[in-house]
Amino acid sequence: MRLSFYGGAGKVTGSNFLVEGDHGKILVDCGIEQGHDFSERETHGPFPYDPKTIDALVVTHAHLDHVGRIPKLVRDGFRGKIYMTPPTKDLAALILLDSAHILSEEARRLGVEPLYSDQDVETVFSLIETLDYHEEKEAAPGLSIYFRNTGHILGSASVRVTDAEDGTTLVLTGDIGNSPSPLLPDWEPMSGADAIVMESVYGDRLHPEQQRRTEILIEVLKKAIAKGGAILIPAFSLERTQLMLYELSNFFDAGQLPKIPVFLDSPLAIHVTAVYEKWGMKYFKPETEEEMKREGSLFEFPFLKQTLSREESESISETPNPKIIIAGAGMSHGGRIGGWESRYLPDPSTTLIIAGYQAPGSPGRRMAEGSPQVTLNGHEVKIRATVELLEGWSAHADRDELLSFAEACLAQKTDGHGVSIKTKAIFTAMGEPSAERFLAQRIHDYLGARAIVPEYGQTWEITKDAVRKY
Ligand SMILES: [Zn+2]
Repeated sequence: MRLSFYGGAGKVTGSNFLVEGDHGKILVDCGIEQGHDFSERETHGPFPYDPKTIDALVVTHAHLDHVGRIPKLVRDGFRGKIYMTPPTKDLAALILLDSAHILSEEARRLGVEPLYSDQDVETVFSLIETLDYHEEKEAAPGLSIYFRNTGHILGSASVRVTDAEDGTTLVLTGDIGNSPSPLLPDWEPMSGADAIVMESVYGDRLHPEQQRRTEILIEVLKKAIAKGGAILIPAFSLERTQLMLYELSNFFDAGQLPKIPVFLDSPLAIHVTAVYEKWGMKYFKPETEEEMKREGSLFEFPFLKQTLSREESESISETPNPKIIIAGAGMSHGGRIGGWESRYLPDPSTTLIIAGYQAPGSPGRRMAEGSPQVTLNGHEVKIRATVELLEGWSAHADRDELLSFAEACLAQKTDGHGVSIKTKAIFTAMGEPSAERFLAQRIHDYLGARAIVPEYGQTWEITKDAVRKY
């Protein structure tokens, strides 16, 4: 089979891979690139392949950089089936409708055509077929797919593509979770593949210990509450927000924090949290499912207010500080957080808590790097607030865990005839170039495997015997 890199090579965002057998073609992920703008210009151009000729699209998880261009793919002629896990289907629906809205606002501001409309998103929904973890399915002529949990966000999967003709297998990891997570089961390795495409967002960095991140969050919140100002948390609506709510709920229950109002000011995050409640009993880890059974909800607590409507959101300003406002977007492009940041960042009593990856050029990255001002919704805003960077909240594995993942995948396996299958190459993708190179070097040095840093547009041929440039 052949593998082409049409996104997520040398970049964290824009995941898009084409897998071709002799008779069928599968795309894995179809995300948008994000950086300075919500959607980078490249995202608006034509696809480097004819979407009409693709048999199926396989989606690893519902993050925008993995699903964001699906409606454009459909608009440009794709009519195949779209495979994803049941929770991913629910989450992708929310994410795509939300992004259609943000994209149309952005297009209006920039005077360009929006990338897609609500109507295109509706067409996407009609093509989706769900596939659960550990089920094999023929997705295109001669190509079957199989999902495993990656512990990254609810419903996230790595996918193995098998060529029925010669049994060649390729694994694409999607994003790999920062296991152990308080909510999700740990990632499962996928061993025995002929080649692996693995993510490398944190390929060159370590996260602090998970236990420390909870202690650090309490310390930061205590300090912020003592300062008496607004506490802003730009949140990724998916997973990060639910983790934050889960931790806050635990802190307040245990009396570790003074009782102050918490606003979940994001319609998207509110809806996503409902999807977590819906699927938790099936997809959370067993001990968390037990906790959910005992407590009813893991994400609600007495002074949490979900502000769905614009009026409810606006009324937050009437509540005196200190108060916590959790709102999207996570990198501060648009969404309600921009309004709160414009209002509160010039005030030195404010604390801004940034947790997680911020793409180069994004407003969040500028604030994280200590810029004294930032452009939000087209206006310059002075930053006099305290900016706290929390590490370890990433939903991505760090460099050591990525190496452990690679090691687990490389473990020798026999195919039933006593023949050992050995992975010929690991491609390090979906990271910034330095992270991809660093991870590739470590895979080579520590695991003795061939590691390749792919480039955009490259095609590689994968067989049972070798992996070579096509
Ligand atoms: Zn992701």
